[in-house]
Amino acid sequence: MGKVLIPTTETWPKTADVVVVGGGMVGVATAFWLARAGLSTVLLEMRGELGSLTSAQSIESFRAQFTEPAMCELALQSIAIHENFADITGLPGYDIGLRYSGYLFVTDDPALAPSLKAAVGKHRELGVTDSEYLDGAEIRRHFPYISETAVAATFRQRDGAFSSHSVLQGFVQGASAAFLVGTRVTGIASDAAGICAVETDRGTIATRRVVNAAGPFAGIVGKMAGVELPLTPMRRQKAYITPKPQIPQDAPLVIDVGRDAYWRPETGGAFIAWVDPDDAIRQPSEHLPTEWDFAANTLDKLIPLTPFWEEVCAGLKHKDVLLSAGQYVYTPDDQPLIGPLPEAPGLYLNCGYWAGVMLGAAAGKRVADLMTGVMDPQDNALRPTRYAEGVVSAGDSFLRGHH
Ligand SMILES: Cc1cc2nc3c(=O)[nH]c(=O)nc-3n(C[C@H](O)[C@H](O)[C@H](O)COP(=O)(O)OP(=O)(O)OC[C@H]3O[C@@H](n4cnc5c(N)ncnc54)[C@H](O)[C@@H]3O)c2cc1C
Repeated sequence: MGKVLIPTTETWPKTADVVVVGGGMVGVATAFWLARAGLSTVLLEMRGELGSLTSAQSIESFRAQFTEPAMCELALQSIAIHENFADITGLPGYDIGLRYSGYLFVTDDPALAPSLKAAVGKHRELGVTDSEYLDGAEIRRHFPYISETAVAATFRQRDGAFSSHSVLQGFVQGASAAFLVGTRVTGIASDAAGICAVETDRGTIATRRVVNAAGPFAGIVGKMAGVELPLTPMRRQKAYITPKPQIPQDAPLVIDVGRDAYWRPETGGAFIAWVDPDDAIRQPSEHLPTEWDFAANTLDKLIPLTPFWEEVCAGLKHKDVLLSAGQYVYTPDDQPLIGPLPEAPGLYLNCGYWAGVMLGAAAGKRVADLMTGVMDPQDNALRPTRYAEGVVSAGDSFLRGHH
């Protein structure tokens, strides 16, 4: 059973085999797997609660419909962990609210139809055999609320949503690690052999291994260890629209790939969002503003393919729209950085996510497998050294919002 505590002088851990910086989905999953591998593990989270920064902002959706091999592999491995979550964490009957509500990537732009068709072909190559390509007539037969202008889509019923909050808490409950909240990492010390300690606002922990899972702040934590990481955090807003009779509650996550806007039903209402490629806020922040016109801009983008939103708009009041924001963190190939960084001996990365809630479970396991020698570093396509090695396959997933 993991311990979550605000440390005191009596409970302060003076040493650890490994320290994880950051208590979001990625860091918590990493701590679970490291402790499971037999390493004494301490996670440090600067905020008062675990999972309260970016991970609290996700719309808790997951998919296997990726076209990059490394992303698809991580997504499938994470789904397998989620599907066996109670057994893996040793929490009998533990429910993570997994539901196969589907993902529909759809367009009314005939020029995008070939890339949707090609995506299904790539899914097949990567072992995802149950995604489908739909033409206009098939789209309308399955999803009558989609506009007649839709010409092409990919759909997978076994994509869906889950309670990422439950997953995070389950990893905590199932882990024999210490989770220290209200504890900010302020420095990383090194000696001739590499990293030797983590400094915090409450004291120092002697350790030879640190995992940087600091989400949007991972670049800052990297600098503490003397490295520049190729990370760009970008604000991503979303809105929750309160329950309205026009919103079909059996709909999948619907993504207009031409307009980079999406929605999915949630408890009678819906989450709506637009992944703005030009969002100007690109600095890590715990206090992200939201724009009053974000929901209106997003609805403008949703109406062409799902016209019922126009009717919803007509009756929409200020109190029906709840805005919030988090950050996606981009890398040069829009895929995360996972594994050791040889230039800073002892430093491991697990950062650079724009879909970290759905990928965190397997990404955490990969860090533990790399640290304990279970995984050969060359089998890890997401190793941070891939850019220097020149073995990068460009990201081309829909909805990453990064052109
Ligand atoms: C609107 C929106 C919708 C999204 N929808 C989805 C989705 O449906 N599915 C999906 O998979 N992903 C989604 N995402 C992305 C997902 O939320 C993130 O990729 C994921 O939460 C990243 O997790 P993380 O643990 O890396 O980061 P975080 O949750 O940000 O955790 C990092 C932690 O590190 C801590 N920290 C930072 N610096 C320090 C320090 N110096 N000392 C101690 N602690 C520190 C922070 O306080 C924070 O708690 C969405 C994001 C947004 C914004």
